Amino acid sequence: MVPNACQYYQLTGVVVPCYNPTVYEKNAMPRNALSWKEQAKRLKDARALAAFLDLQPDGGIKFRKEYSGFLPLLMWQVDGPMPNGELGRYPLWLQMQSQLRKVWRKGFPEKDVLDLISANSTLLDFAAENSPVSESGSLDRYRKAILFLYGDSWRAKDPCPECGRHFIANHSQQQCCSVPCSVEWRQQYKAKRHEQVKEELNARRRQEYAAKKKNKKKTTR
Ligand SMILES: [Zn+2]
Repeated sequence: MVPNACQYYQLTGVVVPCYNPTVYEKNAMPRNALSWKEQAKRLKDARALAAFLDLQPDGGIKFRKEYSGFLPLLMWQVDGPMPNGELGRYPLWLQMQSQLRKVWRKGFPEKDVLDLISANSTLLDFAAENSPVSESGSLDRYRKAILFLYGDSWRAKDPCPECGRHFIANHSQQQCCSVPCSVEWRQQYKAKRHEQVKEELNARRRQEYAAKKKNKKKTTR
């Protein structure tokens, strides 16, 4: 269901401040000791990490353009061993993506985070060392984004129920990735709930009617 313009603007008036990163990033107390500038940088990289999780096999070039300097350039061309010890080679970034998805789903537990930032590190470090000088620090940005989410794991929400994308939450109650997704999802939720209540009411009425009919039969005998 598409919300009409009036409903949309009514809601956005309330929701926009909640989704506006500058509002939250300025007003909320950071849970770690990072400066605001540093925190804003980490949030940007955490968002790059969320986008990396949803990346399709042919989306590498577009991702590189949008998040330049995040993950070493050479990483996209390095192959690692196949998962589960099978024969053959497998793109390193796809391995990293599936491992990261699991850790995200589990809420960034300490052991998994340690595994994540140390696993494949020989290949990753090789990719970082052999990437252009302008890329120096790109591997650190990736690893620091993971560590940031380890500290602020509440930000790594389940995928958006409306569009299915991973996202970084600005506050703990946020359920959707954006205002349009939130508006659409709430409309659908309300419509579903309305249907459910209607069904329950009808079922109760049917039961009451059947009971009345039974009683009537008894008294007329
Ligand atoms: Zn969404």
